[in-house]
Amino acid sequence: MKVIFLDLDKTLLGDDYSPEPAGEAVREFKKGGFKIVFNSSKTRREQEYYRKALGIEEPFIVENGSAIFIPKGYFPFEFAYSMEDDQYKIIELGERYEVIKAALDEISDEFGLKYYGNSTLNEIMEFTGLPKRLAELARERDYSETVFKWEKGGFEEVLRRRFEVSRGSRFWSVHGKTDKGKAAKMLLNLYSKLGEVESYAVGDGLNDFPMFDVVDFAFIVGELKHPKARNIRSVEEIMLWNRG
Ligand code: MG
Repeated sequence: MKVIFLDLDKTLLGDDYSPEPAGEAVREFKKGGFKIVFNSSKTRREQEYYRKALGIEEPFIVENGSAIFIPKGYFPFEFAYSMEDDQYKIIELGERYEVIKAALDEISDEFGLKYYGNSTLNEIMEFTGLPKRLAELARERDYSETVFKWEKGGFEEVLRRRFEVSRGSRFWSVHGKTDKGKAAKMLLNLYSKLGEVESYAVGDGLNDFPMFDVVDFAFIVGELKHPKARNIRSVEEIMLWNRG
């Protein structure tokens, strides 16, 4: 069985955030027998939007490794999880949003910080370039904050005493002591109960490195260097590589 972890921003998705251009790559992966697992800094609501648009029904990992959402009935065996709702069993690895926002609120004046929790919808659209509908979904956060703007550096060090602070394509993400790799590894352990797994990961940012470390084959879109990852220009190249 082949499992591929896909980052979304600047990896599967382009600058306009629309799902359509990703359709071709997703179809190719499905045809190649890959189980497609989103592993992104995006929220549950945002990822649900892309899952629906692209017809993906696999588990998914939200907010930089903070939680794994596993559709009910997906794995035909029992496993430990943190909570469940009507759709998913949820394994939580990160910190609650309220705790993170409170910590940012304490230092926001000192460092001139702008993040979801102290921005209007219009400001969020301006910082992120998200269309209104997607900005609304991004604002519904469960486990992390995104620092869009800062007037003064040094806030990273203050926050690192309590949280993980990682650099994405453009912004800083603040979340619990977890990362995309920890969550990917945990999910791979579950998949391995179904049979032998060949694992892949694709990303473009430093926050993708931890997931490169836990898979068999890793790919970086763009110019960053990682010792075990192959540099590619777009996700489509993976299928060419996979066909040999
Ligand atoms: Mg990215």
